[in-house]
Amino acid sequence: MLIDGSPVLTGSFTDPTMVLAAEELRALSLRRFGSAGTWQAHFEIDGKLPSFEVRAAGNTLTISGPTPVEILYGVYDFAEKFLGYFFFEPGRDILEGEGPVELPSGCLIPAREVPFTVRGFIQEYPFDDDSPQLADWMAKNKLNFLNVWMKYYDGLDHKGREAFRIRGIEIQSGHHNFDYWIPAKKYYKTHPEYFAEINGVRIKPEADENALLLGKQLCTTNPGVRAEIVKNMVAYIERNPELHSVALHPNDGFGWCECGECSKFYDKSKKGDLYSLSTHVYIANRIYHDMVRDVAAQLGKVRPDLTLYFGAYINYCRPSPGLKLTPNLTALFAPYWRCINHRIDEECPINSHYADDIRAWCECKAGGKVVIYEYYMGVNFYLSLPQIFHRTIFKECAFYRSIGVDGIATQFHPPHWSVYGINFVAMAKALRGEKEEEAVPWMMQRLFGADAAEGEAFYAHLRSICTSAGPCHVPYPYALFSRTELAPYAQAVKLAEALLAKSPRSRFRRELRIWAEYLYRYKALFDAYHAGCAGIPEVDQLLAWVHSHRDTRVFVHSRFDPYFEAWRTAIRQGKEYLHFNLDWEDDYIRQHRKLLNGK
Ligand SMILES: [Zn+2]
Ligand SMILES: [Zn+2]
Repeated sequence: MLIDGSPVLTGSFTDPTMVLAAEELRALSLRRFGSAGTWQAHFEIDGKLPSFEVRAAGNTLTISGPTPVEILYGVYDFAEKFLGYFFFEPGRDILEGEGPVELPSGCLIPAREVPFTVRGFIQEYPFDDDSPQLADWMAKNKLNFLNVWMKYYDGLDHKGREAFRIRGIEIQSGHHNFDYWIPAKKYYKTHPEYFAEINGVRIKPEADENALLLGKQLCTTNPGVRAEIVKNMVAYIERNPELHSVALHPNDGFGWCECGECSKFYDKSKKGDLYSLSTHVYIANRIYHDMVRDVAAQLGKVRPDLTLYFGAYINYCRPSPGLKLTPNLTALFAPYWRCINHRIDEECPINSHYADDIRAWCECKAGGKVVIYEYYMGVNFYLSLPQIFHRTIFKECAFYRSIGVDGIATQFHPPHWSVYGINFVAMAKALRGEKEEEAVPWMMQRLFGADAAEGEAFYAHLRSICTSAGPCHVPYPYALFSRTELAPYAQAVKLAEALLAKSPRSRFRRELRIWAEYLYRYKALFDAYHAGCAGIPEVDQLLAWVHSHRDTRVFVHSRFDPYFEAWRTAIRQGKEYLHFNLDWEDDYIRQHRKLLNGK
């Protein structure tokens, strides 16, 4: 059949997702062809299909699927495979191609089993004017899960919430939230016993300048605390009936309660491990999981429909003995500061332990779920340094599937999309069961056209810089710059320049060129600083250079200011500059000097 314009839709719909799917098929066709066409499109709900399916017969294209959201996915998949689109980044669809499209008859895109039910993002910033673009991009890439801090969800209006809901994106309003359920402002005066006792004193959690509440928790064994949390959860869901889940996640950091009752749930002499950055604190999985289990049971009695999410990382990354992931429990496992030179399932002094933990979590599944909380942008203070993962993700998904992981959600930021967007796209495709051998060449071809091989070579070169640092690499700047030479960064600039020269008007290539130059400048400054030839003025210069590129999608600017301020502080104080000036973190960086180099 011939596709030559926007279609005539047969049938009529009232379901808002179906209405959106019809509007999108018309709009995408109109953008591609510029006028109305002579072909017909038909949508069909078929509960027997595992996913959407696209067929052509006569003059009619049929998109069928088990749910309206799958039909919407079918529209977007058809647009990518047959209309010349690539939904690479939010708000900027790539479209190549001219003239009518001749489609063969028969099944164009067969239905298939979807290997992962949870596919999404962790949003660590407030909703903003670009959030509708994000919802649009997520649906176009078949992502269905968005984890946000509760304080940010509070700021999303009804229209904003609907934009996600209609696109099949479930928002999980949670993240670190002890302080949301039991705010000190409301409870400390009347119930100081709700808060953790440290050195014999009930502490009052107050957000520090980073609002992270590092190291301040609740008295989690107190039955009053647990009952109050359940009560507040139920009231929260009554106020926000569109949500299907709640979360119980400690404040970021450590600092568990040391009262008599809480102390029974951990052994102060049993510290955590180096791979999970917890050798300086005792293991807290038993005390946390006892609370999770109790809250899940109490909540299940009144709201059996709700899922309770909880976090697994640092000193509570392993399941405690006897814990079962019952149908209303989902563990969000974060391989924090994992090695990015090795796959999660490869032999590695860090990742092997994380893989063991993930296996252990999967073995606890009794109807519940295990979701990986990833950092495909190298954690927040990696500052746009290379994490070339678009092939790794496909291989890791094969491993995750084999052990029963239910999904992945990654931290991300739109302002660094030109750097890490390729990872986000790869994740979306891998989670839907696409194969690396087909998906990666397709992505390169759509991004770089005839220069796909050079594009892939550019990424391979950046990856080789990371692997040249040592057998292992954890994504923070010091681990990269202290163990690599300057020359390969200069080579990266040359490769990016060559790519840009072949298509000087490409915004994406221009941004890759800026990215490469940034890597070179940062590495050169790092070397000069350690050689005693650079100080605060040079740090200021690099920061100003970064900030002069606010019109790009290379940098998350708000992360650079505190990070570079920490560097200046170290210089002023004559302190060894390793990372962010947190003593406990710097300690791990010193230990990593051996660990990452295979010693
Ligand atoms: Zn306590
Ligand atoms: Zn490693």
